[in-house]
Amino acid sequence: MRTVTLNNGVEMPLLGFGVYQIPAEDTERAVSDALAAGYRLLDTAAAYGNEAAVGRAIKSSGIPREDLFVTTKLWVQDAPAQDNTRRAFETSLSHLGLDHLDLYLMHQPFGDVYGQWRAMEALNREGLARAIGVANFYPDRLVDLIVNNEITPAVNQIETHPFFQRADYQELMSEQGVRIQSWGGFAEGRNDLFTNPLLAGIGKEHDKSVAQVVLRWLTQRGVIAIPKSVRAERMAENFDVFDFELTERQMAQIAALDTGASLFFDHHDPEIVTRLAKHRLDA
Ligand code: NAP
Repeated sequence: MRTVTLNNGVEMPLLGFGVYQIPAEDTERAVSDALAAGYRLLDTAAAYGNEAAVGRAIKSSGIPREDLFVTTKLWVQDAPAQDNTRRAFETSLSHLGLDHLDLYLMHQPFGDVYGQWRAMEALNREGLARAIGVANFYPDRLVDLIVNNEITPAVNQIETHPFFQRADYQELMSEQGVRIQSWGGFAEGRNDLFTNPLLAGIGKEHDKSVAQVVLRWLTQRGVIAIPKSVRAERMAENFDVFDFELTERQMAQIAALDTGASLFFDHHDPEIVTRLAKHRLDA
């Protein structure tokens, strides 16, 4: 398993399995299949409603805890967020059936961001979250969080795929010691990603699928990838990406697919900020 070293020395797999939009009733089976396929990094969130199913799959796998890397995410908390955050963390841990997390991410740059972050710093210092990070932070918010707090996020999980590549932002993050992690690495299939002629052509040169080219392209850039699939054969396909290398020419060709724009939503959009702020999880 290829790993990267985060800014606090913690080793994290470069490739893992995401469970967003997998219904809770299907998640235990999907995660069991993913673990059987070799995945050791699992990415869930309180907001996905499937942490307990992930926990059941972990338990029944019999895989030693130290061989797994489990990430979950804190949903938006009102001020003052310190106590809420600890409660939310404890709920997630209890759903997952674990006594610590490998990575705890602030899911959105909204609500009482500072209160959430300071509570997460405390969880990190206590060893309850081996690493802490953020998701969906744009450059201004990320730098603000870094310069005004003690612990620099280990990871920023952001939309990153061939049509929205974030190369400049990756460079800035790297200067700040923050590792980029891709969500929606396949753009959830938008823009006809899986039949894109350029990606398919590159795949043909290596006898690989479009999905494999995309995952190889991400990981070759040092971007942590967490593809989601409910199908065991695709899980295996998506895991089999380290036996070939894209050439400089192919990397440059893929770079030309970048549109510089989100295919999902813009976290600067007031309507999105309002929608996410109003979303509340059941206690
Ligand atoms: P994604 O991984 O870009 O795409 C998943 C889609 O691709 C599914 O429809 C899946 O279908 C299909 N697929 C997977 N492998 C394939 C293959 N080899 N060939 C053809 N189709 C394939 O989407 P995502 O789930 O949005 O992103 C990945 C993970 O990132 C999530 O699961 C979650 O953990 C994380 N995420 C985080 C945030 C955040 O705000 N932090 C937001 C979104 C996602 P099947 O399932 O039918 O195979």
